Amino acid sequence: MYDLFCEVLLPLPLPKTFTYRIPADWADVVQPLLRVIVRFQKSKLYTGIIVSIHKNAPLTYQANYLEAILETTPIITAQQLVLWEWISNYYWCTLGEVMEHALLSSLKLHGEKQVSLLGSYSKDDSYTITQQSILEVVEEKGSISLKELIQLVPVPTTYQAIKQLSDTGILEIVEQVQDKYKPIWEDYVYIPEEIAANLAPVFEKVKRYPKQEQLLLCYLQLSIKIIDKRLKKKDLLTAVTDSESSIKTLVKNNILCIEKRQKNRIPHYTKELQDLPTLSTIQQEAYESIKNYFEKSKTVLLHGITGSGKTAIYIQLMQETIQAGKQVLYLLPEIALSMQLITKLQAFFGNKIQVYHSGYNTASRTEIWYKVAQKEEINIILGTRSALFLPYTNIGLVIIDEEHEASYKSNDYAPRYHARDIGIVLGTQHKANILLGSATPSIESYYNALENKYGLVTIKERFGEAVLPTIHIIDIKKAHKEKTMRQDCSPELLAALTTTLKNNKQSILFQNRRGFAPILECLTCGHTPSCKHCDTTLTYHKYIPALKCHICGYQIYPTPACQECGSTEMKLKGFGTEKIMEDMQLIFPQSKVARLDLETTRTKQAYQDILNAVENREIDILVGTQMVTKGLDFEHVTNVGILNLDSLLHYPDFRAMERAFQLAVQVAGRAGRTKEVGNVWIQTYQPTAPILQYIQQQDFIGFYNYEIEQRKIYQYAPFYKLIEITLKHIDSSVVRKSAQELVNLLQPISLFSTLGPSTPAVGRVRNLYLQTIILKYTKTTNREILKHELQESIRIIRQQNAYKGISIQIQVDV
Ligand code: ADP
Ligand code: ZN
Ligand code: ZN
Repeated sequence: MYDLFCEVLLPLPLPKTFTYRIPADWADVVQPLLRVIVRFQKSKLYTGIIVSIHKNAPLTYQANYLEAILETTPIITAQQLVLWEWISNYYWCTLGEVMEHALLSSLKLHGEKQVSLLGSYSKDDSYTITQQSILEVVEEKGSISLKELIQLVPVPTTYQAIKQLSDTGILEIVEQVQDKYKPIWEDYVYIPEEIAANLAPVFEKVKRYPKQEQLLLCYLQLSIKIIDKRLKKKDLLTAVTDSESSIKTLVKNNILCIEKRQKNRIPHYTKELQDLPTLSTIQQEAYESIKNYFEKSKTVLLHGITGSGKTAIYIQLMQETIQAGKQVLYLLPEIALSMQLITKLQAFFGNKIQVYHSGYNTASRTEIWYKVAQKEEINIILGTRSALFLPYTNIGLVIIDEEHEASYKSNDYAPRYHARDIGIVLGTQHKANILLGSATPSIESYYNALENKYGLVTIKERFGEAVLPTIHIIDIKKAHKEKTMRQDCSPELLAALTTTLKNNKQSILFQNRRGFAPILECLTCGHTPSCKHCDTTLTYHKYIPALKCHICGYQIYPTPACQECGSTEMKLKGFGTEKIMEDMQLIFPQSKVARLDLETTRTKQAYQDILNAVENREIDILVGTQMVTKGLDFEHVTNVGILNLDSLLHYPDFRAMERAFQLAVQVAGRAGRTKEVGNVWIQTYQPTAPILQYIQQQDFIGFYNYEIEQRKIYQYAPFYKLIEITLKHIDSSVVRKSAQELVNLLQPISLFSTLGPSTPAVGRVRNLYLQTIILKYTKTTNREILKHELQESIRIIRQQNAYKGISIQIQVDV
C-alpha cells in the first residue's frame, strides 16, 4: 500500500508546485483540478489547485496532509491550466502569479475565518452526520476558526458541509474580505406527496385553525400551475397576511415542507427577442470573406471604418456559433463599451449572453463562473480582459473588438500581458474561429494581415446613409495670437458648438487629461506643488477640492499661498475635463453638460447613468477622456472637438503616433453616425505635423505606410520585439548603479541589443526611483536562450548585498 501525494499549485510568486499527502480515506474523492485548502509554511492556509496525483514522497521535506477539498467536481478546466502555463512561459512570470490573477478572488479562500452559530439549531432537525459533528463543535466552542473546525471534523466533505450550513443561515462565517461569494437562498413550500395524495384528513385536522386552513387552500390555488408544486414561501406570506407562525406550525406538523433553493443573482432577460439585423450588401460580402478565411482556419482582421456596422457581422457569426453548440467570447477593451453593447445584444440573444468584467460585483461574477463551468444557459460572454479566464469548455468563436486598444494591455503587476494576444492563444487552443476588429488596426495586426498571417477583410463605407465626418484642423497658435480663443475653444469650435445646440443635436469634447488643471504655478517664484512620493506635478481638482497625484493617489488641500515663498499669486496652467465642463457651462448656460472620466464613473451605475442620459438626449455636451473614444454609438452626436491634440504627439513612446492617429480617428468616428454629416474640430499648435494630413483624410493606409517606414528605420515592432526591464529602489544611487551594472552584463550578449539605462518620464513612483533598460531582438532569436541569459544576469545583480531590496520587473512585448 503506497501513500498518495499530490502536486498543488498555490497563488504565490514561487516557481514550483508543492507536494501534499492525501489522507488515505480521501483517495476516492481527490482528483486533479480540484481546489483544496493546504497549510503552507506552518500556519498559513491557502487555496491551491491539484495539478497531479502521484506516489512519490518528497525527498527533502515531510509532506503535510491536505486540509480540505473545496468541491468534488472541478470548476477549473484542464485547458485553463494549459493556458496559464502558456502565459507563465511567455510573459516570464510564475504559474502561481498567473493563478493569483486568473482565479476569481471569491474562489480563493485565504487566512483566518471565524465560524459561529447564527440562529437556533435544534438537535432533532435532519442534518447529515458531518453537519451534526460540525454543529456540535461550534456549539461547544462558541466561535472557532474555520481552519480549526476543518481539523476537528476530518472528513473530505467538512468544508462543503460548513458552507451549506452557512448558506442556509445556521452558521456564520466571518470573512476578512467582504464581497465574497455567497449564494442567496429562498424558501419554497410544498405538501409532501404522500399527504397531498389524500388531503381530507389534513383539512379535518386544521378545521379548528382558520388561518392554517386558509393557508392550505391558498397554497393549493397558487400552486395549480406549478409543475413541481414548489411555491415561494414569500408568495404565500403575501397572499395570507400574518401567517408566518401558522406556516411554522404546519411545517412542524409535517403538513408543509420547506425546500431551500438558490436564487439567481445575475439579471434575467424577460423581454421578447428580436430578429437578427439583415446585413447590407457590403456587410454580406465582408461576412462571406470572413467565413472563407475561417474555413481555412485563418485568423481574420476586419478593418471596417467607424460606423460600418462591424457589430452586425459579429451578431451573425455569434448566432451561427451558438447554434452549432459552441461558446463565444466577445472581448472588449473597456467596461463602458460592454455596457452599451450588452443592451443591444441581449435583444437578440436574451439570457444566452452575459457580461463579465471587473466592475461587476464578485458574487455575480462567481455565479457566471459556475454557470460557464457547468455549461448552463450562457453561451456568449461579453467581457473585458478578465473574461479570458473563465472555465470555457468549447469556444467556437473569439471576437476581439477594437483590437488596437492599449487598454488590452495589463502592465501594473504580473502577469504583464496583452489580452488580444492571449485571446488568440485561447481561441487557437479551442480550435475556434478568431476575429479581430477595428477601424484603426494596430500596426502589428495590419502588418500580420499584409504578411498573410491573418486574413484581411475591409469595409470602406458606413452603414446606411451615414458618411464619414468632415475633419477640420485648427491652428490655435494663430487664434491665441489674435486673441480670439475663448477659454480653450477656438472661434471655429465655438461656432460649431453653438450651431449644434441650436439644431438640438449633441457634441462630444475630448481632452486627454482629467481634473481641472494639471499645473498650479506660483507666479512669484515658479514653484509648482508636486507629489511627495512621485516625480510629477499634482493635478488640481476643483470640485473635491484637492491637488491630486494621478499616479499614486496622494492628495493635499490646495493652499491659497505658495508653499515656498508665501506669495498668493498662483496661476493654473493647462486644462482638464473638469475645467472644460465648467467653461462650457459658463459659455452655454442653458445647455446640459456631462463629464465621462475616471472620477465620474467610479461605479457601474454611474457609467450607465451617463450613457443613458446621452442616449436619451438629456445631455447636450459630453466632455471626456479616452473613455469617450471607444466604440460608443450615439445617434444624435454630430459634432466632436479634440481640444488639444498635441499632448498626444509628445509621448516618449514609439507608439505615440499610432495612438494619436487611432485616438483622433476614433473620437471623430463618434460623429455623424446617421444621416447628418458630422463635423470634427481638431485644435493644435502644429497644424503641419505629417500625421495631421492622414488624420484629416482619415486615411489609415496612408498612415500605415508612413508609420511602418519609421518602425523599420528605428527598429521597432513589428520588425523587432522589445523587452522592458524596470529596476526600482528607494535609493536613487542604488538603482542607478545596479541598472548600469545590469547593462554592462547584458551588452556583451549578442542575442539582442541593449538600450539604456534611462530614467523614465516619471522617475520616481511611490517613493521608488526607477531606471529602465530596453532589449531589442528579432523574431528569429531563440527566446529560451534569451530568457536564460537575462535571468542569469538578473540573478547576479540580485545576489549582491549592495543591491539588497532592488525590485526588477520584466515586461515582454512592450
Ligand atoms: P462600428 O463598425 O463602428 O462598430 P456599429 O456596429 O456600431 O459600427 O454600427 C453603426 C450603426 O449602424 C449602429 O447604430 C448599428 O445599429 C447600425 N447598423 C449597422 N449595420 C446594421 C444592419 N445590418 N442593420 C441595421 N442596423 C445596422
Ligand atoms: Zn512661490
Ligand atoms: Zn504620487
